[in-house]
Amino acid sequence: MSDNSTPYPHRLNEEGSYDSICRACFATVARGKAESELSAYEEAHICDPTHMLSDTARRC
Ligand SMILES: [Zn+2]
Repeated sequence: MSDNSTPYPHRLNEEGSYDSICRACFATVARGKAESELSAYEEAHICDPTHMLSDTARRC
């Protein structure tokens, strides 16, 4: 389940849908019944700079 090759790892929910999570800003970029539905949202995703900033602040 730990595939580091994608910036958007997929998480299978209990109800059978998939979440696509952005590694950079940790936002849920998409949710769908099929993993193939998620790629369009992943391509359209732009990281939220406020999430990015708060994440950097936490690390520093
Ligand atoms: Zn992002």
